[in-house]
Amino acid sequence: MPEPKQYDAIVIGTGQGGKPLAVALAKAGWKTAVIERQYIGGTCVNVGCTPTKTMFNSARVAYLARRGVEYGVHTGSVAVNMPEVRARKQRVVESFRDGGRRSIEATKGLDLLMGEASFTGPHSIEVGMNDGGGRQSLVADKIFINAGARPSKPEVEGIDEVSYLDSTSVMEFDQLPGHLLVMGGGYIGSEFGQMFRRFGSEVTIVHRGARPLTNEDPDVADEVASLFREDGVTLLLNSEVLRADRNESDVRLTVRTPEGEQTLIGSHLLVAVGRTPNTERLNLRAAGVETNTQGFIKVNDRLETNVPGVYAIGDVNGGPQFTHISYDDFRIIRANLIEGGDATTKDRLVPYTVFIDPQLGRVGLTETEARKRGLSIRVAKLPMSHVARAIEMSETRGFIKAVVESATNQILGCAVLGVEGGELMAMLEIAMMGRLPYTVLKDGIFAHPTMAESLNNLFMAMDS
Ligand SMILES: Cc1cc2nc3c(=O)[nH]c(=O)nc-3n(C[C@H](O)[C@H](O)[C@H](O)COP(=O)(O)OP(=O)(O)OC[C@H]3O[C@@H](n4cnc5c(N)ncnc54)[C@H](O)[C@@H]3O)c2cc1C
Repeated sequence: MPEPKQYDAIVIGTGQGGKPLAVALAKAGWKTAVIERQYIGGTCVNVGCTPTKTMFNSARVAYLARRGVEYGVHTGSVAVNMPEVRARKQRVVESFRDGGRRSIEATKGLDLLMGEASFTGPHSIEVGMNDGGGRQSLVADKIFINAGARPSKPEVEGIDEVSYLDSTSVMEFDQLPGHLLVMGGGYIGSEFGQMFRRFGSEVTIVHRGARPLTNEDPDVADEVASLFREDGVTLLLNSEVLRADRNESDVRLTVRTPEGEQTLIGSHLLVAVGRTPNTERLNLRAAGVETNTQGFIKVNDRLETNVPGVYAIGDVNGGPQFTHISYDDFRIIRANLIEGGDATTKDRLVPYTVFIDPQLGRVGLTETEARKRGLSIRVAKLPMSHVARAIEMSETRGFIKAVVESATNQILGCAVLGVEGGELMAMLEIAMMGRLPYTVLKDGIFAHPTMAESLNNLFMAMDS
């Protein structure tokens, strides 16, 4: 084995935290290696946010085209061409991926190794190169693990025999599935379920919880359920898949529902039951890096593992699984190691948007969480049917809800289920960042007719 190559830093994975971190470290003068075993950009760019949201917008156009008459626009019959939907998605993915590769390659002092990394010691890594170039050994004082996660496999009898789809393969259809069965009504199952319904498939979502999107307030999740039903998605709640079988071209699920056992027959099965960290192949034992029982790497609020000099960022550390959180992990490392700061994950806001239609934008405490904590709160709620902009757009489904602390008038959290709900949520988030009392938004002047001006009425509703 040749002498290991010495670096100041090694980054494993080019996900949403790893890629910008590798570039920032190299730009700060650290000799850096970044290792990627598959696609530059990781999950979000290649098989997560970018392709799903690109495809979802195709589905939304199909939805609007079908609703054209409501707007006085007659389109004729609507046909969805899946190869064209896929090709559009692929073009966007490849442009993002290529942009990521170019920025790595243009960075001085940064080596990109395409291969699989595993630890051989606390500060040494071996890379099995993808191009058949054998194995390379690297050492560094600082190692950053950004290995991400992948779709989990459910513990269901017969699941291996039915060739099910996951969040990656479900985006590669050339022909629309006749009837898509979706196991899991979390955000990934919900987004795909509604998307395929809009493309024209029959869709049944089987979900264990009493409502989809189990972590949301009951009124929010109930509204999502009723929107899905209105869109023609069948929802089986409080239901559990017991067995999966394939029968020629059909997939059959035996499901325990509150009304007794049922057999569902579909053309395809999408499994969306969570994500498993990519830690097994890292040989963490060689480094002594500790994981929790689910395999996520344990870190403190500065993203340090138990091994000095080894950090874990993004999904692999078991934090909230969002692109912007992985990116924020990068910012924390940059602040602490490059900028001489003292950043932590403590008390950071974790906003997210579920890209169903209308979107659900969420940040801060839910009403349920606030009450569980015993906080004295007031809740403001405004239906989208009272928002001028939404009425003008014929997009009146959903509502806005904000939770305010009674003593301070500060906004603790919000849920915006409405057209472009993620954007309105971000306005409330900015108010939360600046610790503005809700009264400032209640009396603020916003341009008419925008979604933003609904904040006046939202908070007026709370006063009455
Ligand atoms: C269908 C879907 C939709 C999503 N939609 C959204 C959304 O709308 N908004 C949002 O915020 N989040 C969304 N997410 C979640 C988001 O994609 C992830 O939270 C984010 O990509 C996490 O990034 P990361 O930096 O942790 O790692 P990843 O992006 O997963 O990157 C990890 C990288 O490490 C590489 N790797 C792993 N092991 C090794 C190894 N041993 N050697 C070398 N390389 C290795 C992998 O190949 C991968 O490229 C979605 C996820 C999915 C699956």
